[in-house]
Amino acid sequence: MNLIGLIRERARNYRCVNCAQTLGDCEVRLLSQKDAHCTVEVTCGNCGFTFIAVLLLKPKTHPDGLPKHAQEPISSDDLLDVHERLKEFDGSFTELLQPRARRN
Ligand SMILES: [Zn+2]
Repeated sequence: MNLIGLIRERARNYRCVNCAQTLGDCEVRLLSQKDAHCTVEVTCGNCGFTFIAVLLLKPKTHPDGLPKHAQEPISSDDLLDVHERLKEFDGSFTELLQPRARRN
């Protein structure tokens, strides 16, 4: 599906600011697209009211999403830290999973 098709599809969930009908049958014209934003001209299929909308385009996320408390994606520095830590670790897997496993 192209961008215009996607926007028209999503527009069904919104209402016209003029007539308050759903925008299921609207016309969408792409005015500009830059980086993660695009500007579109939307014409209501019901009353013909035209307005401009600026949309933020988000990259597709993994269906499972990020873990609840995840703030940032894992960086290569994080991976290096894990690698360093595992290199020095000589306990069991269970000990590894404990936040502060005591080693005797
Ligand atoms: Zn309308």
